[in-house]
Amino acid sequence: MTIAENFEEIRRRIAEAARRAGRDPDSVRLVAVSKTKPASAIAEARDACGQLIFGENYVQELVPKVKELSSDISWHFIGSLQSNKVRQIAGMVDLIHSVDRISLAREIDRQWGEIGKVCDILVQVNIAQEATKSGTSCEELIDLVREIAQLPNLRIKGLMTMPPFFDDPEAARPYFRRLKELAGEIEGAAIPGVAMQELSMGMSGDFEAAIAEGATLVRVGSALFGSRG
Ligand SMILES: *Cc1c(COP(=O)(O)O)cnc(C)c1O
Repeated sequence: MTIAENFEEIRRRIAEAARRAGRDPDSVRLVAVSKTKPASAIAEARDACGQLIFGENYVQELVPKVKELSSDISWHFIGSLQSNKVRQIAGMVDLIHSVDRISLAREIDRQWGEIGKVCDILVQVNIAQEATKSGTSCEELIDLVREIAQLPNLRIKGLMTMPPFFDDPEAARPYFRRLKELAGEIEGAAIPGVAMQELSMGMSGDFEAAIAEGATLVRVGSALFGSRG
């Protein structure tokens, strides 16, 4: 399968999953996860498939790709982010999915403030409390959201999660459902400046289950670009 065929197939499955859930297919956006893949693969996805949203995990990979590729691409940062690298990506990305602590939020606020811009972010939640994954706990989430909401150069757009890996995607559904519930609780708290319009959840193996539970952004990598070896 070519990259173009993969995009066609994944987009078809996304639209079908949305319709099955009684949702508008346009309410789910595909973030093409291009980590470890060359800029040429991104250019191919853009030129052959019109894909414009790409997700990257590593600052040292993102920066050269942004320089090499044209500016019509919307870059999302989805990986764990060290505060000392935030400066390098200030203004380069349209959404950071992986904000999980106040120290990181403060640094993003500071760096975006330096360039006179506001950064859209999602708060990452580690629902299963896996030691190997980033994310705040469900218990600490609301306080973290309240703290971040005070920062003038950040805008909270929603939540992100990465459930434990299961062979059966249905097993991930309770985690997706929980993220949606958490978003509802935050919405209920009516914190000024906080919107819960985005739920970033679902990857190659489980994006259909995530869409059934309300995902608005699915982060798909290997199903589009092939395995990362
Ligand atoms: C790599 C990665 C993805 C994509 O995973 P695939 O299984 O290749 O689709 C999604 N989200 C995050 C945070 C990732 O690191």
